Amino acid sequence: MSGIYIHIPFCKRRCHYCDFYSSTNESVKQNYTDAICHEMQLRQSDLYHTPDTIYFGGGTPSQLSHDEVRSIFNALNQYFDLSKCKEITFEMNPDDINTGYLTILKEVGVNRISMGIQSFNNDLLKRINRRHDAEQAINAVRLAQSMGFDNISIDLMYGLPGQDIADWNRSLDIALSLNVKHISSYHLTYEEGTVLHKLLKEGKVHEVHEELSLLFFQTLIDRLAEAGYEQYEISNFAKDEAYSMHNSSYWKDIPYLGLGASAHSFDFSERSWNPSSMKIYMEDIFKNKIATEKEVLNLQDKYNDYVITTLRTKWGANIETIAEKFGSELAAHFKKEADIFLEKGLLKHGQGLGVSENQDSDYITLSREGIFVSDAIFEDLMYLD
Ligand code: SF4
Repeated sequence: MSGIYIHIPFCKRRCHYCDFYSSTNESVKQNYTDAICHEMQLRQSDLYHTPDTIYFGGGTPSQLSHDEVRSIFNALNQYFDLSKCKEITFEMNPDDINTGYLTILKEVGVNRISMGIQSFNNDLLKRINRRHDAEQAINAVRLAQSMGFDNISIDLMYGLPGQDIADWNRSLDIALSLNVKHISSYHLTYEEGTVLHKLLKEGKVHEVHEELSLLFFQTLIDRLAEAGYEQYEISNFAKDEAYSMHNSSYWKDIPYLGLGASAHSFDFSERSWNPSSMKIYMEDIFKNKIATEKEVLNLQDKYNDYVITTLRTKWGANIETIAEKFGSELAAHFKKEADIFLEKGLLKHGQGLGVSENQDSDYITLSREGIFVSDAIFEDLMYLD
């Protein structure tokens, strides 16, 4: 299995919490599109297998024009065999969604839409500088569903400045009424360099209290479980097993090729990434130079990545796999540390891949209590010199 990630680093305006690499300068959009297509040509042999998933992330992929979307798909079809591709996800801002755009996406083969909704409270949306409102978000989901996109994911944020539990419940009420297949939900973090971080430092906004943060998260887990969503990863919930195949690949150690400025790639032995500057990225690509920086992973790095990513999922980490892939010393370390948390009820035996629920397995994953203290657990299970 393998995947392709395509980074589209354009945003109409910057959200106040966001530190992702993106630009509001759209004058280079066409050139950037050409660079992505050229990078595909240069790197077509970097992918060992035909891609199973393609993910357009950003920035805001829906800032691409219809013609730019078509150009990228023409190049994808030219340089890769998409015949086995099962999932093509396209991130969209709700106010970019209209019949014309969705028709193009259908035509080119997109079968999963991920919408950055964040909240259904217009005051909170304004506070974080999102450009859509609640009504646009609801209409966008309904329009996409009416046009046959049944695999829709929405992003929701909690812990926003001034947000209370009643508001969070209202947002969840609306989200659940939309009956989407997938919900990703994250707590706001105040990243350095963002507007919200500056406002926090100036005392103009305040972080929500730790107890309230916990209540937001518990409410999310409980309400989504009641509504039939499975928490298959700490921050990701799916109905009818509509797991994000692309993101699951990251958690399952499957190689992927990242195209575009700042995109990351992984090929079992090394991680690499393109420059976080569109200018440098485009100059290099048009000179046929692949300017990726590389980091060769040693056994310990790979073990740490495996533990952190697999334990976040319902499938969990497997002791036999650890021994096979990383050797008996790391397997013994994992077992020794994991036993302590199993004893405390913070870890439990996971479902594993191909293992039915409630069946004992060598897969270990977080228990409900463990989810709330996952960072501390990961720290002890990792192997650090
Ligand atoms: S959150 Fe998304 S839309 Fe907002 S600035 Fe970041 S990348 Fe752009």
